[in-house]
Amino acid sequence: MSFDSSKLIELIGNTPIIQLDKTVQNLPGDFYAKVEAFNPGHSAKDRIARHIIETAEARGILKPGSVIVETTSGNTGFSIAMVSILKGYQCILAVSSKSSTDKIDMLKTMGAKVYVCPANVAADDPKSYYKVAERLHQETPGSVYINQYFNELNIEAHYKSTGPEIWKQTNGEITHLIACSGTGGTISGTGKYLKEQNPDIQILGVDAYGSVLKKYHETGEFDENEIFPYKIEGMGKNLIPTATDFSVIDEFTKVSDKDAALVAREIAQTEGLFVGYTSGAALQAARQFAEAGKFDKNSKVVIIFPDHGSRYMNKIYSDNWMTEQGFLEKGDEEGIVYI
Ligand code: PMP
Repeated sequence: MSFDSSKLIELIGNTPIIQLDKTVQNLPGDFYAKVEAFNPGHSAKDRIARHIIETAEARGILKPGSVIVETTSGNTGFSIAMVSILKGYQCILAVSSKSSTDKIDMLKTMGAKVYVCPANVAADDPKSYYKVAERLHQETPGSVYINQYFNELNIEAHYKSTGPEIWKQTNGEITHLIACSGTGGTISGTGKYLKEQNPDIQILGVDAYGSVLKKYHETGEFDENEIFPYKIEGMGKNLIPTATDFSVIDEFTKVSDKDAALVAREIAQTEGLFVGYTSGAALQAARQFAEAGKFDKNSKVVIIFPDHGSRYMNKIYSDNWMTEQGFLEKGDEEGIVYI
């Protein structure tokens, strides 16, 4: 038997679709989760890391030992760091000092050089993580700046992989797609592919309270009054990313921090799927769309679950954190017996 470690990269994508059961018993139609935690880097961001890096290789920009730069401490950072290891690139990530030490340690463990930049400076301050990343990119000839919010390859990654996978896995029977929107790459790329196969498929977006996306989609107006801090990480935005193709999206709903957190815990406890905060948001959105009469008994709804629960142990899977936020009552904690 021979094993080749570089094949890890080929395990990106082709994630399973799992039919949901207990969490959707009261909703009309069949509901399926596309579980992106099955990617080797445990999130959908593996797809864009691979696609953007391999496109740069094909264009002759990246050579062995080249540098890849991005501004993220989240899933994208992890995926870029992982693909960089597999392909022999250096990975530089500029992150905000708001990032938890756990996250910074995780990125360092995956071989990334991490620049921690002050959180309390304006975006155009030379010390901000945007400016630090831009400077490092400019100072490093032949480097690639992933720039996921403004890179059309982000959409293309999902157009070429997530979309065709879902179409095939549902034998073309999908009627609705539900996906959270952060950069918008997932919903735009997947939605575009699916609509090209069948224009009747409804593409339903999930936004956060505190984000501008839903209002922008409805009115074309960037409304600063929509912006306030919220807890869900990875979805919603305080700017309009060009990696979002709003024309593909039929409708958005907004989900609260509390509902998303409680539903993520419910998914773990009743479906046995240990998924992240935004997966809870996506299923909560399905319930809200059902309440609004979007589905009937013939609906076949695919919900994208973007990442794995292990990244949220100190947040939604911590009873202390949940109680601090007022999402659980004190005394609601269950399951631990101290001897
Ligand atoms: N959920 C999580 C946990 C994420 O990290 C992201 C990416 N920011 C999303 C949802 C949204 O995906 P996209 O950026 O493709 O819109």
